[in-house]
Amino acid sequence: MTGLYDSFQRPINYLRISVTDRCNLRCIYCMPADGVQLTSHRDILTYEEIYTIARAAAELGINKVRLTGGEPLVRSRLTELVQMLAQIDAIDDISLTTNGTLLGRYAAELKQAGLKRVNISLDTLKSGKFKFITRGSLNLDDVLEGIKVARSVGLNPVKLNMVVMFGINDDELLDFAAKTINEEWHVRFIEFMPIAGVCTTASYFVSVSDMRKRLELLGKLEPCLPSVGNGPAKYFRFPHARGTIGFITPVSEHFCFHCNRLRLTADGRLRPCLLADDEVDLKQPLRGGISSAGLKQLIESAVADKPLRHHLAEGYVPKDRPMTQVGG
Ligand code: SAM
Ligand code: SF4
Repeated sequence: MTGLYDSFQRPINYLRISVTDRCNLRCIYCMPADGVQLTSHRDILTYEEIYTIARAAAELGINKVRLTGGEPLVRSRLTELVQMLAQIDAIDDISLTTNGTLLGRYAAELKQAGLKRVNISLDTLKSGKFKFITRGSLNLDDVLEGIKVARSVGLNPVKLNMVVMFGINDDELLDFAAKTINEEWHVRFIEFMPIAGVCTTASYFVSVSDMRKRLELLGKLEPCLPSVGNGPAKYFRFPHARGTIGFITPVSEHFCFHCNRLRLTADGRLRPCLLADDEVDLKQPLRGGISSAGLKQLIESAVADKPLRHHLAEGYVPKDRPMTQVGG
């Protein structure tokens, strides 16, 4: 068997790279109210180090990379990293997850550097609520502009991720869904995950089955294939709709048995599972001059340690890092 497989024979071909733990928003479901202890700049992987790890991972079998954060676009010269990654032959898909606030400024150069597509977090269409959810001074209009520019430069399909929270934004489910009927909106509704130290407010949780019941007021949801990618979302559309609706169910129906991911944190640790605290440090060995073969062995050891599934349903919540440090 060629390629990278974990101990449960799952093929691992997707690396999510968090390029920073810094963010220009403080979303209530992601960032602790007081912010996080930021990693000092010297402990953040340089672009050359990220490139070295990505190339070793690609030689083992990784062919898809997603840049995330914190907010990846607050790191300077992100376009240069995209350019570097685009030169790795085996990597054929480079994407970005962003809050969209800076995308209007950078979308064109990112596309030119080799970025294929973007996922944008958008939890509300109401400007007052945007400020409440993001606890910020930035504006919803910046995100809407980012979406517009991303589409116009061809970072398609632009997928919009909404974390659905009871009593916060679940009243907008139908508004988001209606957008998929006449416009080419690809919306993905994500179940809220309780994350230690951030927001364990279980009362925010809305299950996908509950969301679906509410959405079917607009019409019957017909299953469809994703326009691109084979991630954890299950896709549907209303009859004759131009856009699609995806559901992501990390809590009510885990998708671990199909998980193909590894995560690299901004401080250089490889994390086999989003929702388990185990990590393998790559930064110190890299700075200590480890060989390419040694680096590959460390990547393989992280893959071998990938757990079969997470244990959110049994009440286990990762303790070590908030989501803003892992990248979702
Ligand atoms: N700043 C970028 C953004 O907001 O898209 C990238 C990083 S963010 C941590 C990545 C994804 O994680 C976002 O789509 C966000 O909605 C999701 N996320 C963060 N905390 C979450 C939670 N508690 N439950 C579900 N999704 C969460
Ligand atoms: Fe920042 Fe993204 Fe987390 Fe919001 S979800 S606080 S934008 S990292």
